[in-house]
Formats: sequence, structure tokens, C-alpha cells
Amino acid sequence: MFDKILIANRGEIALRIIRACKELNIKTVLVYSTADKDSLPVKLADETVCIGSAPIQNSYLNIEAIISAAEITGVDAIHPGYGLLAENASFAESIEQSGFTFIGPHSETIRLMGDKILAIETMLKARIPCVPSHNKALSSSVDENLSIAKKIGFPVLIKAAAGGGGLGMQVVYAPADLIKTIEMVKNQAKQQFNDERVFIEKYLTNPRHIEIQIIADKHNNIYSLHERECSIQRRRQKILEEAPASILNQHTREILGNICVNACKKIGYIGVGTFEFLYHENNFYFIEMNTRIQVEHPVTEMITGIDLIQEQIKIAAGEKINLKQDDISITGHAIECRINAEDPRTFKPSPGEISWYHPPAGFGVRMDTHIYNGYKIPAYYDSLLGKLIVHGKTRNEAIQKLKVALNEIIIHGVKTNLDVFKKLSMDKNFLQNDIHINYLEEEFNINKKSAVKDNTEKELI
Ligand code: ADP
Repeated sequence: MFDKILIANRGEIALRIIRACKELNIKTVLVYSTADKDSLPVKLADETVCIGSAPIQNSYLNIEAIISAAEITGVDAIHPGYGLLAENASFAESIEQSGFTFIGPHSETIRLMGDKILAIETMLKARIPCVPSHNKALSSSVDENLSIAKKIGFPVLIKAAAGGGGLGMQVVYAPADLIKTIEMVKNQAKQQFNDERVFIEKYLTNPRHIEIQIIADKHNNIYSLHERECSIQRRRQKILEEAPASILNQHTREILGNICVNACKKIGYIGVGTFEFLYHENNFYFIEMNTRIQVEHPVTEMITGIDLIQEQIKIAAGEKINLKQDDISITGHAIECRINAEDPRTFKPSPGEISWYHPPAGFGVRMDTHIYNGYKIPAYYDSLLGKLIVHGKTRNEAIQKLKVALNEIIIHGVKTNLDVFKKLSMDKNFLQNDIHINYLEEEFNINKKSAVKDNTEKELI
């Protein structure tokens, strides 16, 4: 087992990793930016190294500074958390080349899955059903692109091969809009991801987002930790996740889990990973694989009783997963809300000082957060304040616990999206699990400026 791990991340996930390391008796080194000097993970890590100023390019994305910090402090391994450099193949490669262990899959696997075109090609070879697409980078030929889109059938989605975080994709409903949208997404992709390759896939109308959590060790043991339902989204980003997905029966769950396990065998996957699918008209379609721990991992932990961060560390250290597929059963139902410091209508981040924080608590209530009374949220980073996770015997019981917890939690000083969750936890369709990826935006009139004032029942503000 490792003696010392460097954590190349911040916020709640840095704290989550510190806790897992302490439980495993592993010493921690946290790298941080000047803007995070008063953060809770900085206070709780065994050692800290300031690696630069607030902008992420100067600190959290500065690979050389992170590797230097690892060398100076003599760590064995580096945990990337999620976001930032977690799916950066060059980072994983630099770590491997510098003689440290990267807590995640091989850099080649990250590179392969980080390219949506290559990922789909790989999954098709592994017999995973994918969204119908022309799975090649589009050329600049107008006629060819029109004929590809017509063959797939409108509406289509133009996607950046290197896209992520819900960015770099645009729906096209009619042929007249195709060419200008391709150009637009190409430009965005070049600016945001430094890679202008885009491809076309079928745009599925109102599917659900269902994903499978996988763990794989270095000894060819690969297991499914079952699924999560992540259909409550805004701007193609998840904000509420559940496990299990109540629409799945055990038979479908096993089939889906098995095809993901087999795909992992084919690509030699090691570590924790997630296969993301869209569920549309009784069919599953692969959209992408995430090669890191996900924000929503706690709902899987709550229903399986497995600590995914500890498993990740043990796997990277070469240990065998001490389980069999049949041991991984589902107990109850868990729901997670991503609490963001943001204007709930415009999503504009709301940095500032937390003047009063009172956490919710009780049986089956978990709050993963780095905030505290008086904590100043820096303006430079993503707006996630914390994750409220509830676990009950059934979905209804979990929702009931969620309502109670949401009424207890107090976060004053910044705007948050707590009201969205309060309204959702009382929403008839959500209660009946009648949801899809566009449900929140459509029903709550998010993004529809004109509708906000007129809407009564589901108005957000
Ligand atoms: P990213 O890497 O940016 O997260 P994904 O491919 O994982 O992109 O998709 C993010 C979200 O975008 C999905 O959860 C879903 O809401 C939507 N989406 C992606 N592909 C499609 C599609 N073909 N049809 C409809 N919605 C899609």
C-alpha cells in the first residue's frame, strides 16, 4: 500500500480523498493555489504545497508544478479527483514517466476514451450499442455533410470529438441550419478544446441518462457496481443523481453491467470508470466513458456500501478487489443534489462569503462539502459548494429524507440552487419518476427568459 499520496484537486473532492487516505493510514499532500489558502482541505491535509496563483492555468493545471511538488514531498502516487487534470492523458503520462503511480487508468486508455470518435469506434467493436452516428470527423464538404445528416435523420447533434462538461454540442433540427452550426461547433471546439474535429450523431428526443459504474483491478477482476440515473440536468450537466435507476429491472441491469464489464476486458481497463448511456424507447445507447471518479459516486457508495475512493487507491496500489459480482447487491435508494453557489435562473456563479452554514444531518443523510462558516468562495473555480446525499429504503423514503434535509440546511451569504431541489422534491412528475434529460429545463422554464415571470407553480425564483 502507498505511504503518501498527493492530491491534485481542490474543494469537496480533495476533502473526500483526504478522508479516504486517513482511513487507510496514508499520508496526504495537497497542492493548492493562493486563492485556496484558507480552504478546509488545506487545513486538513498532512502537508501542503502552494503551486501558484488563482487562475487554474497557473496552479491546478500546471503539470510541471504538480510533479515538482510530488518530487519534493516524496509521494508514491497522485490522485487527480474529477475535473481539472483528471482526464488529461498527458498528465497521467507525465506522472507515469516521473516514476509515480497515477490513481486512474493508463494514459493510453484516457486518451482513447477522451476522444469521443475513438471511444464510440472502440465500443462498437466491443459490441456496445451506440447512438446512431457518422462516427468520423466531418470534412468541410457541404454536400457530404448534408447527405450524412439526412441519412441519420434530423434532428441531429453536432458534437466535438474532444468535448466535455456539456460543452461543444449543438442540436440541428432542419437542413438549412446544418452548415452554419457545424462551423459554430468547430470554432467553439477549437477555442475550448484546441481540437476542431466534430462529428454528427442522432439527437435523441427526451431520453434518460443512465450510467454504469465499473471497478477493475490489475488482476483481471472487473465488476459492475450497477447504475445511476442522472436525467435531472441543466445545460447538459447533471445536478441531481439517483441510484439505482428505478426504471431498470434486475435482468436489464445484469445485461447492461455485463456488456460494460466485457468492454472493460477488451480495452484492458483498470480503476473506476463509468459508461454513460442514453435510454430511449426501451433501448440503451452508449455516449461516452468517463475514466475517473465521478461527482455522483456517493449514490453508488450508499447503495452498495463500497467506498469507491478507497477502492480506487487500493487498485492503483495493486491490490485485488476483495469481492465477487454476487457480493455487490443494492440496498435501498440514494439521491444526490449538487449544491452550487449560483443564480438558480441564470446559472451565473455567486462567489462570496458564507455568512452562515448549518449542515443537514440525521439517519441516512450525508453532506460532502468543504464549506464552513466564514469561508470565502473564490471566483475562479466551479461553483460546486457540496453534495447532499440521502439514503432510504425506497425511492419515496429517500425523497422524504431529501425534503427534510433541504429544509434543515442553511447556506447564507451567496445565492444557491437549493430552491430548485426543494421544488423538485415536491414535483409530481419527479415523484412519479416521470423524467428525462430536458425535464428540468422544460418544466421549470430554466433558460426561457420570457416564461420566468408568467410561470407560477414551477417558477424557480
Ligand atoms: P460531455 O462529455 O460534455 O458530458 P456527453 O456526451 O456525456 O457530453 O453528454 C452530456 C449530455 O448531453 C447527456 O447527458 C445528454 O443530456 C446530452 N446528450 C448527449 N448526446 C446526446 C444525444 N445524442 N441525444 C440527446 N442528448 C444527448
